[in-house]
Amino acid sequence: MRKRWLIGNWKMHGNLAANKALVDGIRERLPVLSESIDMVLCPALPYVSQMAGLVADTGIMLGAQNASDHLKGAYTGETSPMMLKELGCGFVIIGHSERRSYQGETDGLMGRKALAAIDSGLIPVICVGETAEERDSGRTHEVLGRQLDAAFGYIRTAHDEIIVAYEPRWAIGTGIAATPEIVQAEHAFLRARIAQRDADFAQRLTLLYGGSLKASNAESVFSMPDVDGGLIGSAALNADEFVAIYKALD
Ligand code: 13P
Repeated sequence: MRKRWLIGNWKMHGNLAANKALVDGIRERLPVLSESIDMVLCPALPYVSQMAGLVADTGIMLGAQNASDHLKGAYTGETSPMMLKELGCGFVIIGHSERRSYQGETDGLMGRKALAAIDSGLIPVICVGETAEERDSGRTHEVLGRQLDAAFGYIRTAHDEIIVAYEPRWAIGTGIAATPEIVQAEHAFLRARIAQRDADFAQRLTLLYGGSLKASNAESVFSMPDVDGGLIGSAALNADEFVAIYKALD
């Protein structure tokens, strides 16, 4: 039985007061976390230390939205995954489509970042997903397979812990989530692809869906057998919505 997960990606939102209000709001609505559902919050980088204080002793875990593929060195403006680990992060999102689109991140860089994160003691949350055009032209599996293979070229399935998030680009921030049937089909494809490398690892692997997930559609997506939870964007900025999505995992 795999654990269930809810990860909030706060993107470039928040400030000191808003972050505190959001964590307080989540805790008021959910004073005790379920033992079988893990929660991770990924604030913008400057707030990682503040958030480490806010979530201390709550059971909520902390993640970052990006990290360097290097552990240290002359890389101005970059953040080492080791630094994130020291500040209290346990997770880092890797290869988010917004970084692929706006920062030109490639499949290869994603693989190197995943490895650096693992070597720093972080669990990488590796994002894969196709564009609308790729889906419409029947290339979804080619794209997902390529993205996954790039990351798994660096991962040692015998002992590395990772999370994979299926985030179709056409569903991110659009208000139109993939249907539960599409999510299940693509998650099954991803799990089968990984099983070709290591069948046990594929069965243990946490697979999350992300893209316009909200309280009103979470339950139907979470009912799918290969869906282990969600990676939530805009709905993670609202305590009512986020906690309702968490409860939909139960
Ligand atoms: P939305 O939930 O706002 O569509 O964003 C999803 C996402 O990008 C999570 O990483």
